[in-house]
Amino acid sequence: MNKKFDFITDTLIIGGGPAGSTLARELNKNNVNNILIEKNFNYDKPCGGGIKSKVFEEFNLPKELETKQITNVNLFSTSNNVKFNIKKAPLSIVLRKEFDNKLRLLAQEEGTNLIQGKYKSAEYFKDYIIAKIKIENKILLIKAKYLVGADGVKSNVKKDLLGIYPKSFLTNYVIVKNQVIDSCEFYFGSKYSPKRYAWVFPHGNNISIGSIFEPKSNASNIFEDLLKQKDALTAKKKGFYIPNWDKKNTFYKNRVFFVGDAAGQTLPFTYEGIYYSMRSARILANAITKNNPELYEKEWKKTFEKTFKSYHWAEKFFLYSDFMSNKMLSFFKNKSLQEKAFLYWNNKVKPISPQNIVIKFFKYFFKK
Ligand SMILES: Cc1cc2nc3c(=O)[nH]c(=O)nc-3n(C[C@H](O)[C@H](O)[C@H](O)COP(=O)(O)OP(=O)(O)OC[C@H]3O[C@@H](n4cnc5c(N)ncnc54)[C@H](O)[C@@H]3O)c2cc1C
Repeated sequence: MNKKFDFITDTLIIGGGPAGSTLARELNKNNVNNILIEKNFNYDKPCGGGIKSKVFEEFNLPKELETKQITNVNLFSTSNNVKFNIKKAPLSIVLRKEFDNKLRLLAQEEGTNLIQGKYKSAEYFKDYIIAKIKIENKILLIKAKYLVGADGVKSNVKKDLLGIYPKSFLTNYVIVKNQVIDSCEFYFGSKYSPKRYAWVFPHGNNISIGSIFEPKSNASNIFEDLLKQKDALTAKKKGFYIPNWDKKNTFYKNRVFFVGDAAGQTLPFTYEGIYYSMRSARILANAITKNNPELYEKEWKKTFEKTFKSYHWAEKFFLYSDFMSNKMLSFFKNKSLQEKAFLYWNNKVKPISPQNIVIKFFKYFFKK
């Protein structure tokens, strides 16, 4: 060990959520030395915990982390509703405290140096980074070839380097104790969540209810109606940030990468961030292993940009007004279109351009 530094490593990862832990695991597979810093091993990230069930196989995760398997999804708009059968590829529900903990422990077992500590600051040099990590009353100095900001939507690593946080929306979020449901419910329209959606998901022996909204809108009050409907008006409501994907997002600068929420990598419209942060981490691990930083942005764009753009446009188009969200649900009453949308969501068909989604919708609309 060098006298001046507490540790020297290839890759220093800040944040032990799905993005950071997955990156650590992928680097271990490729024999790249890494340190993972998580500020709180008991953190229970506020989250619906809905994740594509293929994640377990794709990332070699124990299936016991799935607390419920969802085969039916119910969609509601202001004057319509539709049931989506997703038996062919169910949605899994995980509890984030257990899920994140397991991911971190797997990374540690597979070779990562896992440390509970808080990122404070970094100095950027041509060939390396020096980061300060606070552990209780002590400051650790870590020298690394690369630093990775996987520290969520309020990324301090990003704020330090670029002076900004990722773009974000707000979410209302409550846990309602002792209510059991077997499906996931999504609510579209102005009385639930203007231009986005609200949800009700199982959460262990409880349910979680949430809605996404733009900080300046009045959707915080609108949420009360859904709570009333679920007999949950007394539940403690809190607000949390969720990324609003920006195609101009920074992937890499000054030997610092960003991944997961810190890079705004939640899919527009559905706001799935767990799966996409893990997939993005795998792409990043490949670039780090090959010591080719530019490969990260290039490969990410090749894999996901079209999908993210199409969901962004579909969100604008279908959730713009109650009229359109009602139409979207009548669109989904057609079983073959439902199947197609489902395959698309599950990444089973090639991503299509936003314009094509709109053209297909109009063709169907005028045929009726
Ligand atoms: C209310 C709500 C509901 C959601 N529901 C879903 C859902 O059902 N399905 C889905 O796919 N996505 C959902 N999301 C989005 C999802 O939670 C995120 O996209 C996902 O957690 C991103 O993973 P990440 O690892 O990038 O960031 P995070 O999970 O936020 O992890 C970041 C980690 O960094 C740590 N950290 C932060 N600062 C520091 C520091 N200075 N030093 C050290 N460590 C630090 C944090 O403690 C945390 O563990 C939801 C989000 C919200 C807010």
